[in-house]
Amino acid sequence: MATAERHVGRASYEELLRLALERGFFFPSAEIYNEAPAGFWEYGPTGLLMRNNFIREWRRRIVRNDDMLEIDGSVILPKIVFEASGHLSSLVDPIVQCTKCGTKIRADKYISEKTGLQIDERLSPEEFQNLILKYELHCPKCGGEFGKPTKFNMMFRVGVGAEDSDAYLRPETAQSIFVDFARLSKTMRIKLPKGIAQVGRSFRNEIAPRQALIRLRELMQAEVEVFFNPTAKFDPSRFEKIKHITMNVLSQNSDPNQSKNLTASEAVVVFGGMEIITYYFALLQDFYEKCGFPKEKTRFRELSAADRAFYTTSAFDFEVETSSGWLELVACNYRTDYDLKNHAKFSKKDLEVMDGDKGKVLPHVVELSLGVDRSLFSLLDLHFYHEQERDVLRLQPNIAPFLAAVFPLISKGEIEARAISLYQNLKLEDFQTFYDDSGAIGRRYRRMDEIGTPYCLTVDHKSLEDETVTLRERDSMGQSRIRISEVGEKLRHLRDRNESQV
Ligand SMILES: [Zn+2]
Repeated sequence: MATAERHVGRASYEELLRLALERGFFFPSAEIYNEAPAGFWEYGPTGLLMRNNFIREWRRRIVRNDDMLEIDGSVILPKIVFEASGHLSSLVDPIVQCTKCGTKIRADKYISEKTGLQIDERLSPEEFQNLILKYELHCPKCGGEFGKPTKFNMMFRVGVGAEDSDAYLRPETAQSIFVDFARLSKTMRIKLPKGIAQVGRSFRNEIAPRQALIRLRELMQAEVEVFFNPTAKFDPSRFEKIKHITMNVLSQNSDPNQSKNLTASEAVVVFGGMEIITYYFALLQDFYEKCGFPKEKTRFRELSAADRAFYTTSAFDFEVETSSGWLELVACNYRTDYDLKNHAKFSKKDLEVMDGDKGKVLPHVVELSLGVDRSLFSLLDLHFYHEQERDVLRLQPNIAPFLAAVFPLISKGEIEARAISLYQNLKLEDFQTFYDDSGAIGRRYRRMDEIGTPYCLTVDHKSLEDETVTLRERDSMGQSRIRISEVGEKLRHLRDRNESQV
């Protein structure tokens, strides 16, 4: 009997989700309760190991590489912070409610879905009203009439203390960085330009959360805010280090389907003639490639004035091409002095700093606002494959949840003792290692292939005679013998072989 034909190639979204749920990457929050709202997901053990690796690479290649400072600010911030930042008035989605059944939907999305028109989400409630009347739109659930369109603020409000004073869960980690800037500048003796970084949770009360880790209500961001003097020239020796890095750039005035592959030197003109912005975009490009995002599947896309966030004057999205289209991973914004200026005004504090002999300056800010969850989801999407014999997750060794697995051929006697001892030693050397002694060796390999473990080590009868083990590589499925005493060194070499730093 011939076996059923298997679909070979990249996995579909549904298959990816099944892998995530069944292998401990991520799953819905409070899932045993039907009442649990959408848009909240938990990381399981494998997903968290992968996330830790991703953030470690971000710290290494962006934060530490560029001598940035990292802080950890509060998740709850007082209302005035978001009055100053503009989030209270501008982080809003237009919504309409059905007068008959009460359903609430995004006005802009619904109108554009029904009419095929491009609808700017920043239209006024009256303009939305007119469109609804003009196209005679009704509730998609019951056909009822819509009420007056309103603006829905996406921040989660919380009441602080017995007084229940107004505060909000932060919608981005960036605001603490701006609010703390004056203190950091003094206590850390900041010299411009300087990056300040933060990784942590942010919260957005999305009307329509979707696609697992793609649009969440509780999300993880890794943000960098670089403060600089807009009149100062960027250090040429720093630019020199990155000028060879190439990136795909899709600018507003180029063919919408045709991004250009440019060196950093060539890209400066597209990025507003600003070397400092180009420098950080190049660092970002390099970081993503080192995490396993192929360059040809990434691009910097310039946003139109209508698509930019309210606080930015020029903006590019760093995007990746997933199996369901291009997806924004990082918002790269030139925020000018918008935030510091407004916090200075609302707090009545002087937030200017000295810039050497150039005198006092209110710094400008370029931002890399990175979505961690989306990045991890995209990595799974890019690297999960069906092959004729197996499912395999081809994550790079620096990102894979486990670097290695140790198997005893049989789980008894000297073979088991040697395997356990090898496993313990690898853990002591700080390699994330998995131990598995159940089932046929072939099945143990398959389980490791599915969660992306690049190397498996099997202790067998021969190990007792010559102090070697079988090293099996995930991608080639090739096997070789290696001395037990050399396993640690070999794994380190395999993990770090493309470790060059810009
Ligand atoms: Zn209705």
